[in-house]
Amino acid sequence: MRGVVYNGIPFNMTVQDLPVPTIVHATDAIVKITTSALCGSDLHVYHGVNGGTPPWNMGHEAMGYVAEIGSSVSWFNVGDYVVIPDTISTGHLEMEPEAYSFFGNGAELTQGLQSEYALVPFADANLIPIPLSHNTTNATIEQDYLTVSDIFGTAWSVIDWSGFQPGDTVAVFGAGPVGLLAAYSAILRGASAVYSVDRIQDRLDRAASIGAIPINFVSSDPVEQILAHQPAGVMRAVDCVGMEAVNAQLETQQDLIINEMVAVTHLGGGIAQVGVTSAQTNSAGAPLGDTFSPNVTFPMSDFFSKRLSFQSGPVDPKEIAPMLVDLIASGKAAPGFISSAQIGIEEAPEYYQRFDQHEEIKVYIRFP
Ligand code: NAD
Ligand code: ZN
Repeated sequence: MRGVVYNGIPFNMTVQDLPVPTIVHATDAIVKITTSALCGSDLHVYHGVNGGTPPWNMGHEAMGYVAEIGSSVSWFNVGDYVVIPDTISTGHLEMEPEAYSFFGNGAELTQGLQSEYALVPFADANLIPIPLSHNTTNATIEQDYLTVSDIFGTAWSVIDWSGFQPGDTVAVFGAGPVGLLAAYSAILRGASAVYSVDRIQDRLDRAASIGAIPINFVSSDPVEQILAHQPAGVMRAVDCVGMEAVNAQLETQQDLIINEMVAVTHLGGGIAQVGVTSAQTNSAGAPLGDTFSPNVTFPMSDFFSKRLSFQSGPVDPKEIAPMLVDLIASGKAAPGFISSAQIGIEEAPEYYQRFDQHEEIKVYIRFP
């Protein structure tokens, strides 16, 4: 089968022949992937900033249908239509590190999902069922459902983590796929105003298309722009940017977003972060030094006097996936609006580059 592979050379993805996975344990399932996607988290690997020991098969967002099941898989049958979540757990409450893994990041237990087939360990505990037959679906429906594997759950959760209540005003930093879906989640849930901060016009236009107010952080200070609309500040602010945040001069500045969130948020409000800032070593294990230091300056004094709350971290999309699947199935949510390209797998290297250059918003890989 063909799959996208990272060989340890930054800015260089290749498509290679890989062995088709087979059932190893009775709890495994093999999924024939119909749609996979590129994610901002894949770009950290692309930049040489995250992951295990190369080479490995990339990708952690995919869906398809069950092609084969191990003898003890009882909740799924061959032919069932499923989303594969980005994280795999044993299904037990205790999270043993060696039994909890992330697809496509060079971890030992799990391969990547930018390939034709995937081995899914502990299938009963991990696969997310879709209430449709894969024979009756199409690319548009898959663009909606696939977001449940990672980014819709991440976006919905960061809005939860900010303490969001219907009627709140919200500032969303970053209008990549995660930020756009965070803005969308807040709008779906009755936000009174959502400000969407980025510098990429295409992304700001996409934010405006769902009813968010676009804020270009290069034209002037985004905090001042939001306060001009909302003089007392917003009730909630969320970071969907992470360690690759740049300032108006386009220099990397990792503590920028946390400072802007605290500055723009009203007394008693809440801030939250899903943009990743955890890298300490590059994919070869070498320390990254000051460029990507995980420790940033935190505006403790303003945070304290404003009585804000703050939550950040990785999201396990499985927890809210059933609810998001229901929202999509009932027609209440159509998160696939973030799509900008549908490609065949051989085009993946070119589209990694385009996505990295912000020439694409969300790239979906379709398999025949
Ligand atoms: P992306 O790279 O496509 O989007 C990031 C956006 O931030 C870009 O549009 C960029 O222009 C913008 N940006 C840069 N500096 C900015 C600034 N100063 N102010 C406002 N916007 C700025 O990535 P994505 O796919 O949308 O993912 C966003 C982040 O979320 C990444 O760090 C990704 O790894 C992370 N993520 C986290 C989780 C989790 O579980 N916590 C899950 C998925 C993704
Ligand atoms: Zn992702």
